[in-house]
This record gives sequence, C-alpha cells and structure tokens, in this order.
Amino acid sequence: MKKMIKVLLTSAMIGAVSLTTFFSFANQPVVSAAQGGWSLAGHSWPASTRTNITYSRDGSADAVWNNAVNNWNYKTNLIKFTNGGTSGKVSLSTVYNSSIDSDGRATTYFDASKNAYGGFSWLNTYHTSKYTAAKTESVATHELGHILGLADLSSGYASLMNGYTSARYDTFGIYTPQKDDVDGITFIYK
Ligand SMILES: [Zn+2]
Repeated sequence: MKKMIKVLLTSAMIGAVSLTTFFSFANQPVVSAAQGGWSLAGHSWPASTRTNITYSRDGSADAVWNNAVNNWNYKTNLIKFTNGGTSGKVSLSTVYNSSIDSDGRATTYFDASKNAYGGFSWLNTYHTSKYTAAKTESVATHELGHILGLADLSSGYASLMNGYTSARYDTFGIYTPQKDDVDGITFIYK
C-alpha cells in the first residue's frame, strides 16, 4: 500500500488561505533506483518573486539552511532564495518533536491561482540531531524543493525529492538537487 505523504488542507478548513504541506520521513525501505520522476506540488512562485524568494531564520539551524538555500541557488537561475532578514516570506526553523516520524516539513501558502506567496519549513531535531551535517542538509534542501513547487517521490528515486531520508541520503548519498529535480524546476519556471 502506498503511504500517503501529501496533506492538502482545503480553504474551507483555514479560511481564505490555501496551502500544501509535505512531510519527509526518516525511514522507508528502498525498492529500486529509479530516475526521472519529478512531480508537481501544484503551486509556483510568480514571475515577480521567483528570483527573490525571501527567507528568514530563527537562529536554530542557520548554517544548514544557508547551505540548503545555496544548493538551490547554485543549481538553477530560474529561481533564487534571498535573505529577507526578519521579514522573509518563508520562515526556516527547527522543532523538537519525538512523536512525529518526519525529520522535516514544508508548507507553502498560495492564492486561488496557485501563486505562492509564503510558507515555512522546519527540521525536526529529534531526528536530525542524530544525523551528520550532510544528512541534515539533505533534509533541508529537500524541504526547499517543496517550497519551490516539487512534490515527494517514492523511496526508489535517486532524486533530492525522494521523500525518505533513509533512501535519499543513506542509500543514494543525495543532499543537493539532482538533474531530475532541476528538470522539474525548469518545467515549472522556464
Ligand atoms: Zn518531502
């Protein structure tokens, strides 16, 4: 049975705001090493902001988020994350929650036209405190892929958007956007 990892909350639940939320999971067995599977979350950043997606951080994992931001900024010029100080559109932080089986989460806010205008992402340090720096970076960079408009892939994909860290990083060693991930971004923003 395929595990559902996308949670879409409708506007009826939260007033006028629409959003997509993705959780990435710490553990999932790998079936195979598939490629070329990029998938869309549904939203995208409009032309006016896609090369100036501002972010703010809370100081809890700034170095990790810096690397994650740079991983994307160095791979494509179709989008760009920029430091917005305290007024960034996307808040990047950490939580500590032992009851959540996910090591990261990303939520994007978008309007009726699916134009993104904000969001937030966190790393769950209950899990990531046991990770190496590169493995934690794998989670953070993955979450930013959701903010940009990519959806999760199943555990067999050798892509950054593989939704399972045990597969994405432990098996495939991925912590930066791969060709498949950049292909997805190019499809959305070119
Ligand atoms: Zn994910």
